[in-house]
Amino acid sequence: MSGCDSNMKAQGFSISDCNLHMPKFSTNATPPNFASFLPFHFPSKLSLTCGFSNPLLWAHRPRGWRSSNGGGPGPSLMVKCVSNGDNDDGFYIRRCVELARKAVGFTSPNPMVGCVIVKDGNVVGQGFHPKPGQPHAEVFALRDAGDLAENATAYVSLEPCNHFGRTPPCTEALIKAKVKKVVAGMVDPNPIVASKGLDRLRDAGIEVVVGIEEDLCKILNEAYIHRMLTGRPFLTLRYSLSVNGNLLDLIGDIVTSSGGYYSCLLQEYDAVVLSSSLFSNNLSVLASQEPGANQPFRIIIHKDLSSSNKIPLVINDATGKEIIFTDNRTKAAPEVAQQGIETVALDQISLDAILDYCNSQGLCSVLLDMRGCFNEFEDLVTEGIKKRYINKFVTEVLPIWNGCAETDPLKPLKSLEQVKVVNLQSKASDQSIVVEGYFKF
Ligand SMILES: [Zn+2]
Repeated sequence: MSGCDSNMKAQGFSISDCNLHMPKFSTNATPPNFASFLPFHFPSKLSLTCGFSNPLLWAHRPRGWRSSNGGGPGPSLMVKCVSNGDNDDGFYIRRCVELARKAVGFTSPNPMVGCVIVKDGNVVGQGFHPKPGQPHAEVFALRDAGDLAENATAYVSLEPCNHFGRTPPCTEALIKAKVKKVVAGMVDPNPIVASKGLDRLRDAGIEVVVGIEEDLCKILNEAYIHRMLTGRPFLTLRYSLSVNGNLLDLIGDIVTSSGGYYSCLLQEYDAVVLSSSLFSNNLSVLASQEPGANQPFRIIIHKDLSSSNKIPLVINDATGKEIIFTDNRTKAAPEVAQQGIETVALDQISLDAILDYCNSQGLCSVLLDMRGCFNEFEDLVTEGIKKRYINKFVTEVLPIWNGCAETDPLKPLKSLEQVKVVNLQSKASDQSIVVEGYFKF
């Protein structure tokens, strides 16, 4: 089994090994304005009954949650696949997105992709890309359809690839299967190869339609798209506040159980940046409770700030998915090295170093989880704002009134003027309110 096939986040695979859907970055390429992907207007046909965060994350949310968009406990999946009878293209692309989401947390550095083959109004094949090293969605769907793929319509959430990776291009598989029509949710976000797969299909005489449920498809792969366009992982800042607006080192109970926003974030994000102080209390080191979740890579930051914040001697559940970033003033404990946990010593811990590391590991999304020792985050948040690295925030407001924390890493954020926030969403329970949005610098 290749390094990409199993536990790919842990094994330090190279991007080129797993680069099935994702052409290599060109450092000379000028990325198109990412703002063109914002704001993420939810598609009109999309059910908003449990819309929050990545819309599908709230598939199994706990009872008692209400979203800002008016819904009660929602359907089993955020994407409601309801046919309107007139034009079913949207219906089948939404089904593709639903299928693609089955691999949430597993596909980086590749995108999540789903495919449905439809003939005479019947679904005759479907598939999704499970993880790097495995066939693409189109291949699974064509296999599922067999001979019925001939003269059928193939729906796919992302433009089919047109280059040789570990498998032949999906365009060739579609041509070979003699499909009549291909409907794609969106073009490949890489400006260098965008539309080449669709051109290849057209050249082969296949009817091509593109841009169906495009916003939904972009939301599905917002982290992948961001990394493709910038060469950097998508970065989200998470923190908790009291009702009087002060930072809290707390997290609601309900949100860490299956279906809660925090459990879903850990399932969705490829890496989570944590304070080393959390490891002095193992109860604070949380894992996603979603069934079958691929736990995120843990990036532990440690600064020699006080005697109460020693580098963790033991990380009990070392899975090979931890790395410690420390500054040169701090000596890594030998016990940590004995556990096989990599430690990177830097003159100064920086987001640049963390994001570069994540990028080299093929990770598309990083969660900066502000818990534990706030001092350890102060410089990172400042850097994230200054360099415009922070794409998104998730804020949990808890029913607590408290005094101001000694150190407030949000201070540089609070002093900023004219930072636009778009696509604000909220969810409420009797225990907390969770607000999220995108920064538009
Ligand atoms: Zn492909």
